[in-house]
Amino acid sequence: MIHKTSWIWDDRFLRHNTGKIQYVFEGGETVEPCDEFENKHRMNVIKEMIEKSGLVHHLVRQSPYEASDEDLLRVHTKNHIGHVQKACEAETREVGPEAYASAETEGIARLSAGAVMKAVDTVMESETISKVYAQIRPPGHHASSDQAMGFCFYNNVAVGAAYAIEHYGLKRVAILDWDVHHGNGTQDIFYERDDVLVISIHEEDYFPLESGQVYEIGQGKGEGYNVNIPVPSLTGDEGYQYVFESIIAPVISQFEPELIIISAGQDANALDPISRLMVTREGFKYMANKVRELAETYCEGRLIVAQEGGYNLAYLPIATMGVIEGLTGVDVNWKDPHVLPHRTTPTALFQAVDNVVNYQKRFWKFAEKESFC
Ligand SMILES: [Zn+2]
Repeated sequence: MIHKTSWIWDDRFLRHNTGKIQYVFEGGETVEPCDEFENKHRMNVIKEMIEKSGLVHHLVRQSPYEASDEDLLRVHTKNHIGHVQKACEAETREVGPEAYASAETEGIARLSAGAVMKAVDTVMESETISKVYAQIRPPGHHASSDQAMGFCFYNNVAVGAAYAIEHYGLKRVAILDWDVHHGNGTQDIFYERDDVLVISIHEEDYFPLESGQVYEIGQGKGEGYNVNIPVPSLTGDEGYQYVFESIIAPVISQFEPELIIISAGQDANALDPISRLMVTREGFKYMANKVRELAETYCEGRLIVAQEGGYNLAYLPIATMGVIEGLTGVDVNWKDPHVLPHRTTPTALFQAVDNVVNYQKRFWKFAEKESFC
């Protein structure tokens, strides 16, 4: 079987307008220094990079469809959907904490969630395509069942995972969230379920401050199926590789998923304005390659990469190029012009990994400590 890769995109994603960052002072004086971090330019630069780097010739273009009420209701409350609809109709800017919208946002958020459903249809039904890069916005991983938050309205990957389970009868779906921020919404939605494994690697004690700790392991029959990996600043490519080998690959291997979905925020990149994790194109390529291998081993190659964050307009397209290179197995013959610090694995990371292992070893087998230090 030929494992082709699909690229899902729609120009309507550009119509969701988050406006400008605003600093409002007493008396109403306002400073608007620049566009919000999550803006349409992010999508334009990724798209241009895919088209002009030649990657486009290795991808099959697909269009998304909108998620219906029924689709959203698999993971969101009726109240939440009603709130997002009404707030957008009324042109309320902040629909939830730091979730900025415009009049058209609700429909586009449905398209973003529907894109992951389209990706599920593709990997489940296509004879030739087993991998998908869904270039979507708004992102989704901070949206819980009943709240919009942090640029997210509907939880795209959760809508997709729930659809794969209900519509296609899958028993085990793994979601790996490598966005630099904790995927709190996804955790919240699947916290008591054992059919969706949620793994989030993120910068420790960052956003949201109240979640993402190692001791949040799931509840009830979901115990052990929520794995948080908070990592220290400057973790870098080697550090991510260490985490993949020590935790992510062994846990996914034992779970034996039938589908892997990535919450792919490339905001752990070395030049991102809102993170300090120093991952380069090579690091993202490594991660995508690794999950592709896992998908080929456990789920006939079925792998969906759904865009989440990533905010430096110069480096986001390069980091995402690394992801698509890993996903397709195609190397773009082009040298990254940025000189980035080469990080060695910090000692604090060993401690961070030990902490995760200590909380999860009841549920999963890990290699003996000596072998991964
Ligand atoms: Zn993020």
